[in-house]
Amino acid sequence: MTKVYEKSPAFFDTFTRKPSMQKTTHYCPGCGHGTLNKIIADLIAELGIQDQTIFVGPVGCGVFIYYYYESASVSAPHGRASAVATGVSRANPDSVTISYQGDGDLAAIGTSNAIHAANRGENMIVFFVNNNIYGMTGGQLAPTTLIDQTSTTSPSGRSILNDGFPLRMAEMVAGLEAPVLSARVAVNTPKNVRQAIKVIRKGLEAQRDKKGYAFIEVLSQCPTNWKKDPKEACEWIDDVVCQQYPLGVMKDIVEEHPSQKRKCERVEFDAIAEQLNLTTSDENGFQPIELIEDEVRFKFAGFGGQGILSLGMMVSQLSMERHMEVTWLPSYGPEMRGGVANCSVVVSKEAIGSPVVDQPNVLVALNRPSLEKFGPLVPEDGLIIYNSSLVDTVPENLKGKVYALPATDLASEAGNVKAANVVVLGFVAQKTGMFSQADLETFLAETFKKPALLELNLKAVKAGWSAAE
Ligand code: SF4
Repeated sequence: MTKVYEKSPAFFDTFTRKPSMQKTTHYCPGCGHGTLNKIIADLIAELGIQDQTIFVGPVGCGVFIYYYYESASVSAPHGRASAVATGVSRANPDSVTISYQGDGDLAAIGTSNAIHAANRGENMIVFFVNNNIYGMTGGQLAPTTLIDQTSTTSPSGRSILNDGFPLRMAEMVAGLEAPVLSARVAVNTPKNVRQAIKVIRKGLEAQRDKKGYAFIEVLSQCPTNWKKDPKEACEWIDDVVCQQYPLGVMKDIVEEHPSQKRKCERVEFDAIAEQLNLTTSDENGFQPIELIEDEVRFKFAGFGGQGILSLGMMVSQLSMERHMEVTWLPSYGPEMRGGVANCSVVVSKEAIGSPVVDQPNVLVALNRPSLEKFGPLVPEDGLIIYNSSLVDTVPENLKGKVYALPATDLASEAGNVKAANVVVLGFVAQKTGMFSQADLETFLAETFKKPALLELNLKAVKAGWSAAE
């Protein structure tokens, strides 16, 4: 183990989340997450498993772990980390798969995922950070909130009759047959940290040795939402929290459990397509499309309700039907709160390395904040298409080729402002040369079955196409 004040070699040297916080995490002062992150990192380094480790991160205060650990990592949708970790672990049977989840994520929306992964005895270790509250969203009642504990949604305290009992996840998991280890530790005092290190080391060793499913619940202080200073919060864990969540090892059969590895069949796409009776050639008449570059990296952005995600989906589907490699990634996480809704679409001739689009070569910005946020990221040879019906000022620091498209006005003329995204589809198709007018018409006819809707969308797509000519 590195010394307490030394940065673990399993962490990145520099955290790139924010230029102003390259050496510190985003956790609040006194938060238990930081201590737990350090313990895990130190043990990964000590056990020499950094290159095998794959983290699956949650939605919640632990969401940014991918900025901290210099290991592979995947972000899961809310509550789904154990399910995603199942896929990660099975597809990478030699990995040490770590699912890192909070109590809102694992014990509320994700209970079924978590329990079934445990019941199947997946090769993974789950860190369940229990701070008795929803941390990131501002202190609402969680399934783990203590009896009588106040929260923003239980100002009179948790009532057994209204809210039920606190969920004791470590005991629940220990009651299942498959898990090899289930324990509850705390990170509030040096003594508890020492015990936590012992148990976590055992859990990670069990993963290194492919012993099956390990679950470690970590009582962690949340001074911010408990409205206590860090010292009071640490004391509160001993004095109050541990009374309802006793520390200890609830189940440990690691030693006697044999190593287990699931077979990971690698199946070629063509074999799957054959079994599903899908065509993988151009028998349906579609040809791969010409791209302005080998890989087009789209960013579609605007307000929620402008059909941004559907626009990205339409471009994805049209490209997929033409046998292109495609990824579609909606922005769904804390970064988008109060900001712009967006989705990233990558269309490529080759397998796509990452669905994340940091530097779009085609940007569609349907409102001003989107243009201001993403416009400067588009390189000189990229295209920027903005909705000139809603954006009256174009930032001066844009490098790409800029097109003003009055998408909302054209959609309104076609019959409904909601079709602005289809206007954009027509414009993008013409400007990039990716789809012909016939492609678009066929696609819309397959998508919109009601004649009136089809007519409206055909008008909208034509309006966009004509505006681009
Ligand atoms: S809100 Fe609570 S759990 Fe989240 S980072 Fe702050 S102290 Fe930690």
